[in-house]
This record gives sequence, C-alpha cells and structure tokens, in this order.
Amino acid sequence: MPIAPSLLRWYDRTKRDLPWRRAPTPYKTLVSELMLQQTTVAAVIPYFDRFMARFPTLAALAAASEDEVTALWSGLGYYARARNLRRAAVAAVSQHGGELPRTEAELGELPGLGPYTAAAVAAIAFGARTFALDGNGARVMARLGGVSDSIDVPATRVRLRAAGTREVPRGRPGDFTQAVMELGATVCTPRNPRCGDCPVRAACVARAAGTVDQIPRRTKRVARPVVRIACACVTDGARVLLVRRGRGLLAGTWSLPEAALASAEASAAAREAARRVATEVGVRGALLEHQGAIRHVFTHRDVTAEVFRIRVDRAGRGGATQRWVAPEGMTELGVSSFTRKTVALGLGSKRDNVARRS
Ligand code: SF4
Repeated sequence: MPIAPSLLRWYDRTKRDLPWRRAPTPYKTLVSELMLQQTTVAAVIPYFDRFMARFPTLAALAAASEDEVTALWSGLGYYARARNLRRAAVAAVSQHGGELPRTEAELGELPGLGPYTAAAVAAIAFGARTFALDGNGARVMARLGGVSDSIDVPATRVRLRAAGTREVPRGRPGDFTQAVMELGATVCTPRNPRCGDCPVRAACVARAAGTVDQIPRRTKRVARPVVRIACACVTDGARVLLVRRGRGLLAGTWSLPEAALASAEASAAAREAARRVATEVGVRGALLEHQGAIRHVFTHRDVTAEVFRIRVDRAGRGGATQRWVAPEGMTELGVSSFTRKTVALGLGSKRDNVARRS
C-alpha cells in the first residue's frame, strides 16, 4: 500500500510553521538543511533567523569571510558545516551564476555538500524525484519495513533510502521527504512512538509484528575517548588572548591556547603544559593561577580542560591567528560554547566539572 497519500494529508494538516518553510527559496533550504544536521529544530531557529538577516543571499554569503560565517555559527556546534556552507556559496557564485544548480548530481559536486544535502535540496527546492534519508527518516523507514538490520551500516541506509525513493509520489517529492522526517521528529520518535496517531500505521510492519521497540537497531558505539587538556587564559584584566584553531576539533573557531595532556598526568604537568602554551603565544615568566576544570562532552570526545589564568600588564599585538578580545566581543568571532566556558572560568571564580553535551 503506498504511504504517500495519507502521509501527505497528515503533513498538510500538522506540519510545523518553520522560518525556512515561509516563502521558501533554494538558498533557505540549503542553509536550513545544513543547520539541522545533528541539531534540533528549536536550537536552529534563532541561528537561521540571524543568518538570513546577515546573509540574505548566496552572493552575500559568498562575499563573507570564514570568520564572519563562523561567528554567526558560534554555539551551534559542528563548525565544519559553516565552512562547507560558505564554500558551497562561493562555488555557486563562481560556477553557476549565483544560483544553486538544480540537479542532485550537480548539487553533490558543490564543495562540502554530501549526498544527503544534495538530495534534500534537489527534492525540496527543485522538485527532483528523489528522497533524502536523515536519522529521523531512517528510523521511520526501518519501522515501516520491519528492517531489523543496524541502521548504522551503510548497506542498510542504502536499502532504506531505496525503499523511501520507491514511495516518492509524482508532484510532491520535497514534501514527501519532509513529511517522513517530520513524522520521525514528532510521532515516530525514538522512544514511545505514538503509533495510534500515525497516518501510516496501517502499512507499518513493525507495528503489526509488535517489534516497534526493537527497531531501529543500532551498532554498539565505541566509548568516546577521554581527553585532558591544559588551557592558558592570558588576560590583561579586560581582554583575553584567543588563538585560531587549525585542523581537527572545532577547526576555524577561536579558543584559549591549549595543550593536550596524558590522561594520568598530575596537576603539576598541567601547569607546565599551560606555561608552555603561554610561552608559545609570547607570554613568559608570568604567574599561573589554576582556576579549576571544565568538562565538556562532544559527540566524539569527552574533554576535561584544566584552566590557568595568566595575568599580564599589557595586551600584545594581535594577528591572523591571535586576537585580544573582551569577553563581550567574542560574539564577533567564531567561538564555541566550550571556549566561552573556559574563558568564563579563566576570568571568573573557581569551579569544577560543569558538564554539557554538544
Ligand atoms: Fe512509527 Fe508507529 Fe507509525 Fe510504525 S506505526 S511508522 S512505528 S509511529
């Protein structure tokens, strides 16, 4: 039984009023799809509104610096998405006359756009008869088809996407993809799905078999590595010294200078490491005050930062990779939530182990 008719009727009746669905454009679709990856709708809305106000067009985004784009992304996490979005805009302007290309294949050739984003933009913005499978969609399709293989395995995702693609109706492919994702976000939720309210329950294999709570199956995740670092909060009392991060975690954002520690290293080693990074940024011989520790759980890493305050009489000169910034001025730079916390601890009173998952 095709699921599209009842699913789309439900979607038309209940879909959420979201800023990227009002007067939609391909550009709005692209921005929202990248922001929504790994992030909830509620968290994305204020970021989307600010982003569209600052960069209303692809051309405006392409003309911006990476720092400006990362600054507006500050706190949203997964900063590679911000850099990828800007790179895609630059390519669209230089190679496609300032418009997004219309086909899934061409969209997939833009730098930084993976298969999911290319399919989502092609279907939603250009009506291509394709299907984009995100985490919510994978859960819905696995339950509908009674698929008990792990949805973390690429072959299963291919199978689920193919099943979704077969269901895409003529005429409304973008709405179909969005309806499947919406169903996963609001009805077919990971725990306690509301099968009684589900518009496609009559077609659901897992519901008929009584296996809803066993699907989707996930591959057991390996434990996150636990990482310890020492941070140097160099300050003249009004400003702090931030450095631009290179490759790796939070690449492209600004943070306190830091050094990795072996997990069992004692606090004396942390102090020495902080002194070393301070020397590397041009601060020698100053007193180090241990302010405490911050724990932050990233998706792939569990980080504990030992934060040391280092007072200097005068701020030095900034540069391409170093800046002296007042805490209020951090909004002008790309600064992660993690860095905001380490700076607050470095400048403020001592405390320990404030945990947050990004
Ligand atoms: Fe999900 Fe239940 Fe609907 Fe099946 S019937 S798709 S398990 S909400």
